[in-house]
Amino acid sequence: MSILRRVLDLLWPRNCEICGRPVDRDARYICADCLNRIPFVRPEDGMYEIDDAASAVRFECETREIINGYKFRDRIWLRDDFVDWIEAAARSRFDVSAIDAVIAIPTTLGHRINRGYNQSALLAESLAKRLDRRFLGRAVARTGHPKRQSSLTEEERVENVKGTFVVREPSLVRGRTILLVDDIMTTGSTLSECSKTLKAAGAWRVWSVTLARSVRT
Ligand SMILES: [Zn+2]
Repeated sequence: MSILRRVLDLLWPRNCEICGRPVDRDARYICADCLNRIPFVRPEDGMYEIDDAASAVRFECETREIINGYKFRDRIWLRDDFVDWIEAAARSRFDVSAIDAVIAIPTTLGHRINRGYNQSALLAESLAKRLDRRFLGRAVARTGHPKRQSSLTEEERVENVKGTFVVREPSLVRGRTILLVDDIMTTGSTLSECSKTLKAAGAWRVWSVTLARSVRT
């Protein structure tokens, strides 16, 4: 915990991000009661080009609120809670000792400028540290200017992301087992395309872990 965080905690006690009740100074930002009601998931097996996929929670109601807060409203202090979740999802799904490298789904430059940070990269970097695996921050880049996926149908999403990833350092992925990290998986088309690009560059296996799984009804 940073010194700045400790000072802030002394000045302003922490409250749960969901129910607003005070939480322990050493705790995270989500209280135990709310944590009990979080819809953690064990999702379906491999999709598209991904060999195996895990997600921590379902993207709905309260989890949607706090994850959007992290993504769009700079509530970056939620990172440790979220890393707890994806770490648990990754450990329960994968033999983490088999993972050679952790890679975040890169954002487009436009998104990064808008937000000032890449929230998936922050999660991925912390997760790599927890799992004691190598984090590759610059191995994969995003090219072109795809439209926002959220407004598109499943077929349009697949088309929209096609060819938008490039592996900058193929020697780092060749023959390796890669864990891809992203915040939200909806249809899986973005993760799938990134995985396909990694495999074309020689990656052996690509697994993914996402903070949340959005199930469209
Ligand atoms: Zn709470």
